[in-house]
Amino acid sequence: MSGVIRRLDETVVNRIAAGEVIQRPANAIKEMLENCLDAKATNIQVTVRDGGLKLIQIQDNGTGIRREDMEIVCERFTTSKLQTFEDLNAISTYGFRGEALASISHVAHVTITTKTADAKCAYRATYCDGKLKTQPKPCAGNQGTQIIAEDLFYNVSTRRKALKNPSEEYSRIVEVVSRYAIHNSGKSFSVKKQGETIADVRTLPNASILDNIRVVFGNAVSRELIELGCEDPKFAFKLKGYISNANYSVKKCILILFINHRLVESSSLKKAIESVYAAYLPKNTHPFLYLSLEIAPQNIDVNVHPTKHEVHFLHEDCIIDSMQKHIEAKLLGSNSSRTYFTQTLLPGPSISTSEGKPSAGTSGDSERVYAHQMVRTDSRAQKLDAFFQPVQSKGELVTTKDTEEIDDAQILEALEKQEHDSSGEMEETRPNTPADLPRKRTRADQEVEQEDLTAAATPLRRIIKLNSVKELRESITEHAHKGLQEMLQNHSFVGCVNPQWTLIQHHTKLYLLNTTKLSQELFYQILIYDFGNIGVLRLSEPAPLYDLALLALDSEESGWSEDDGPKEGLAQYIVDFLKKKSEMLEDYFSMEIDQEGNLTGLPLLLDKYIPLMEGLPMFILRLATEVNWDNEKDCFRDFSKECSLFYSIRKQYVLEVELREEQQDAVMNSWRWKVEHILFKAFRSLFIPPKHFSEDGSILQIANLPDLYKVFERC
Ligand code: ADP
Ligand code: MG
Repeated sequence: MSGVIRRLDETVVNRIAAGEVIQRPANAIKEMLENCLDAKATNIQVTVRDGGLKLIQIQDNGTGIRREDMEIVCERFTTSKLQTFEDLNAISTYGFRGEALASISHVAHVTITTKTADAKCAYRATYCDGKLKTQPKPCAGNQGTQIIAEDLFYNVSTRRKALKNPSEEYSRIVEVVSRYAIHNSGKSFSVKKQGETIADVRTLPNASILDNIRVVFGNAVSRELIELGCEDPKFAFKLKGYISNANYSVKKCILILFINHRLVESSSLKKAIESVYAAYLPKNTHPFLYLSLEIAPQNIDVNVHPTKHEVHFLHEDCIIDSMQKHIEAKLLGSNSSRTYFTQTLLPGPSISTSEGKPSAGTSGDSERVYAHQMVRTDSRAQKLDAFFQPVQSKGELVTTKDTEEIDDAQILEALEKQEHDSSGEMEETRPNTPADLPRKRTRADQEVEQEDLTAAATPLRRIIKLNSVKELRESITEHAHKGLQEMLQNHSFVGCVNPQWTLIQHHTKLYLLNTTKLSQELFYQILIYDFGNIGVLRLSEPAPLYDLALLALDSEESGWSEDDGPKEGLAQYIVDFLKKKSEMLEDYFSMEIDQEGNLTGLPLLLDKYIPLMEGLPMFILRLATEVNWDNEKDCFRDFSKECSLFYSIRKQYVLEVELREEQQDAVMNSWRWKVEHILFKAFRSLFIPPKHFSEDGSILQIANLPDLYKVFERC
C-alpha cells in the first residue's frame, strides 16, 4: 500500500488551528473578554451553560461592530487592530491577530448581536467556519456586543471527550473572569450560570482592586496584602500590584500576572518570586500575588504560543531581578507596619503649605477640601485616646451618658492641642510579631493560619448556590447607604470614647459612631457573605454545651422561671438539639460541636478578633430559643444575628480586658486596639452600612469643624 499524500481540506486545517487557540471554554472566554475590553466596554456579563460547553454568552456595552464589518469579523486574520507588521511593535490592544473569533466559529455555532453608537438598530448574524451563515438582520438592542457560542467542539469529538467535567470547566471560567475583574477594577464584571438570577462572581463599577480581590479570594487574603508600586526607567517597566505579607501563606502559590494588561503566565518570574518568599514563609507554603507589569510594547514577545499564555520579554532577567528586589523590600518593610497604617494617612505635609490649593486627599474628589479647611488627622500623631486616658486610669470609664456631655469645644481643644504637640510625637506602638502575644493567643493564631491554609488552597471560594443566602446578601446590598459607605471608607479615626462609642472624622465633620451596633452589623454581614467559607477559631479546651447552657439559665438575663421546668432538663435539651444541628453549623458557619456535646470551635470572622467569652453562655441559650430552625432563610438569618450579637463589641468588654491589661503589655489585647485596627479597618473595606444607621442614632454628626473654628475666632 503506498501512501497517498493528500492536501488537507481547508476547513479541517482551520479546525485543527482553532483547537490550538481554543483549548477549552475558559480560553474562548478569555479571548472574548479581551475583545470586550478592546472595545472599551465598562460592563461585561458572562453567562454559561454546562461549563461553557453548551453555551457561552458574553454581553458588553462597548463600541459595537459596524454593520459592514459583520461579514468578515469571523474570518481568520481579520482584525480592526493591526494593519502593518510594524504596528505589532506598538500594539496596545489585547488582540491583534484576528484569530480568536475565527477559531471559535470553527468549533462552535456563533451568533453575534451588536450595535454601534450611531447605528439606528442592532444587527444579528450567525457564523459557521469563519463565514456568515445568515446575513445580518436588524433587531432591537443596546449599544455593545453580545456574542454567543453554542455547542463548543461539536465537530471535534476528541476535544469534547477530553472535557467531560462541566463543573471543572466552570470553575476555570470563574477564575478567568475573576482575574480580569480584579485587574480591570472600575469596570463591572459578572459571571453566572444560565438560568441563575445571581452571579457567582460580580464586581461593582466603583470597586477597588482590593475590594475585588476580597470578593474573589476572601478576607483571609485581602487583609494581608501589601501594595506594590514602582517604576524602573532603565529597563522601561512599571510594576503595580498587591502581594501577601509574611504573615500569610497558602499551600499553592497564587500568582495573578498581567503583562501589558493581558493575563499571562511566566514560569521564570514565578520561580524568582517564590525564591524571595522562601526566606519568609514556613516550609512548603506559598504567597499570593497580583502583579500588573507594564513593559514597553516593543520589548514583549507575545507571539510565542497562540494561546498567548506564557510570555517572554526583552531584558527578562534584569526585570525579574529588579522585581525581586522590590518585593523583598516590601516584605521587610511590612514586618513592622501594616497596610492600614498608610491607609489612615491623609496627605500630611501638603496640608500645611496653606496655599489654598486643593489637596489630593484619599477622600475622593466628590467634595474638595482646601488647605484652610483641613484639620490635622495624621494618624502618626496622637489620637484622642490620649486625652481621655487620665479619666480612665482613675477607673471611671466614660459612660454613654458622659458621651453626650463631651462638648465640641473639648474635642476641638483636643484636636488643636494635637496640632501643636505633634511635631516630636512618636509613632504609636503596634505589635509586630506573634511573639508579642500571650501564649493562648499565639496558639489561636496558629489555628487560624492552619485554617487559612486549607481555605485558600483551592484558589476559589466555595460557591454558595442556596437561594436563601443569596436573598440575604441581596437584602444587605439593597439597604446599603452609599453616603455612609463612602464616609466609612475614607474616614480618619479620631478615637474611642468607650467601647460603645467612637469618634471619626470625614472631610471637616466629626461623627460619633455606635461601635456596638456597627460591629454587630459587620459580623452579621461577614457571616452572610462568607457563608460556607468561614475559618475556625478553635477553642484551647472543648467547652461543654451543657455547662454553658446551665450558666446561661442561671443568669438573670435568661429570664428563666420555675414554670419553664428544671434547668438541668432544659440544658440537656439544648445540648441534644444543637448536636443535631452540628453538621450544618460546622459546614456553613464553622461552629464546631463534637460528639460529646462540647463546643470546640467558633467562626473566625475577623483575623485576631476573639469575641468576649462572657457572652458565650447566652449565645448558646439563644441559639435554642431565638432561632427559627424550621425555615432555611430564617434560620441562617437568625443564627447570624445571634452570632453577631455575641461577637459585637460591648461595654462589658472594658472591665474584663482592662484588668488583664495591667499584667499584659500586649497592646493587642486592649479593646481600643481592637476597635481601631480590627473593627474600623473592616468598616473601611468590608462593610455595607444599612440606611437605618443614619436615622436610628447609630451614626451621629456632632460637629462641623470649620463652623467651630468660626465660633472660636469670635471668642
Ligand atoms: P483580534 O481581537 O485579534 O482583532 P478577534 O478574532 O478576537 O481578533 O476579533 C476580530 C474583530 O472582531 C476585532 O478586531 C474587533 O473588530 C471585532 N470584535 C470582536 N469582539 C468584539 C466586541 N466585543 N466588541 C466590538 N468588536 C469586537
Ligand atoms: Mg481578540
